[in-house]
Amino acid sequence: MDNCIFCKIVKGEIPSNKIYEDESVLAFLDIAPINRGHALVIPKKHFENIYDVPDEVLTDVIKVSKKIAKAVKKAVGADGVNVSMNNEPAAGQVVFHLHIHIIPRLITDGLKSWKSRGDYKQGEPEQVAEKIIRAL
Ligand code: 5GP
Ligand code: ZN
Repeated sequence: MDNCIFCKIVKGEIPSNKIYEDESVLAFLDIAPINRGHALVIPKKHFENIYDVPDEVLTDVIKVSKKIAKAVKKAVGADGVNVSMNNEPAAGQVVFHLHIHIIPRLITDGLKSWKSRGDYKQGEPEQVAEKIIRAL
């Protein structure tokens, strides 16, 4: 992918602070960290997001994410770690090369995760669950 910034990082065409590399996966620091130590884990091959990535590649990426989450927590003395992935612009995806965010969290960091809307009507959860089951 010629215009993909993360493919360029894989090829070494633009600099990054790499923290882990193997045959299929690369991890490096996010350039605009939510907290110090915020890292990104990516497959070296270009896949856009969770929809098109082969299971084997996703397995490699998530295994490395576990390793990186533990290392980041230890390195920066975090109280917790968010492991997350944005898929499509509506979900906040800006770079269209699959990546897992490893975000160290501190009890004192003041960040809030999503707030529940808690607005299911009576009988709605069953209908929604049924729709999802049919879509599998
Ligand atoms: P998204 O919103 O697509 O899930 O997240 C993309 C992430 O990539 C952002 O957190 C952003 O700071 C990071 N990012 C964008 N461009 C670069 C870059 O050139 N180098 C690094 N290290 N991170 C980048
Ligand atoms: Zn790419």
